[in-house]
Amino acid sequence: MTDVIVFLGIQGSGKGTQAKLLAEETGFQHINIGDLFREQISKGSELGKKVQAIITRGDLVEDELVFDLVQSSLAPDCPGIIFDGFPRTPAQAEYLLAHYNVKRVYYLDLSEADAISRIEARRICSGCGENYNLISRRPSQEGICDICGADLIQRADDTGEAIRKRVNEFYMQTFQLKELFKQKAALVELSASQPIRDLKSIITKDIQLG
Ligand code: AMP
Repeated sequence: MTDVIVFLGIQGSGKGTQAKLLAEETGFQHINIGDLFREQISKGSELGKKVQAIITRGDLVEDELVFDLVQSSLAPDCPGIIFDGFPRTPAQAEYLLAHYNVKRVYYLDLSEADAISRIEARRICSGCGENYNLISRRPSQEGICDICGADLIQRADDTGEAIRKRVNEFYMQTFQLKELFKQKAALVELSASQPIRDLKSIITKDIQLG
């Protein structure tokens, strides 16, 4: 079975950032389900049309569609996979445990209030998808991507009611997975309030030892 590393945490806890850094370090494939769905939406594919309204509302996409997306995005001959944003439901966690060797689950802990203010401050590049944050990672020129020069936008589900729904969904569905993975002895809990590079160095050391 393929080795996998999972990042669990509330929206805004920095799962994507840490998953990307760890993927560069390990050569594992980084799979972010939200990004893959957004890619399908911007392509206008059948799948994209099916999930657009669900994602904009801040609801979870049904498990079967998520499993199909995971299957179809696997790179051949990869030494392992880093999932961020998967699993989010007990059924997804069972799927993961049945199909993969779960090497580590990093739970990034952040309060609900901090998560909401980080999400509200989040901006993404409409061109290359790079992430920014008006509090912690401002672009050098307001509203413009440092990397490709395209406009920065706010995701439709990073506003108002959709944020509340997503945070609620996290506590209803995803939070309980922490206990499940604790029992499997693969869980490491870390504070998401520390600087990105400190968190990265803890995770890198842990994975090298493990
Ligand atoms: P994210 O970018 O991780 O915040 O995900 C954006 C949206 O994609 C979520 O609010 C869900 O609608 C959908 N999504 C992402 N990952 C999953 C998942 N594992 N299960 C169901 N829906 C998901």
